[in-house]
Amino acid sequence: MRLRVDPLKCQGHARCFALVPELFDVDDYGMSSVKGDGTVAPALEERARLAVANCPEFAIEEITDEGDPSPAQALSRHGGGAPRPSR
Ligand code: SF4
Repeated sequence: MRLRVDPLKCQGHARCFALVPELFDVDDYGMSSVKGDGTVAPALEERARLAVANCPEFAIEEITDEGDPSPAQALSRHGGGAPRPSR
């Protein structure tokens, strides 16, 4: 599993960083980027999916080896994916 953050969609909520600081960095304005090349260790995949599902801007994409968002990621934007934590 590998993720990327679309800088044109990210609005700096830093929810991703709050959920999985092992995977994301945020700048002084809360704008996120993935650490390294975005590869997710198997032990972090469940939390990574939670971060994807909780990004209100749909800025976090799971990418394939070819670099395109995976079909599973596209589907998860429309009602699938992990549940959102309560506020
Ligand atoms: S939750 Fe989404 S919009 Fe917010 S900082 Fe993370 S990637 Fe950006």
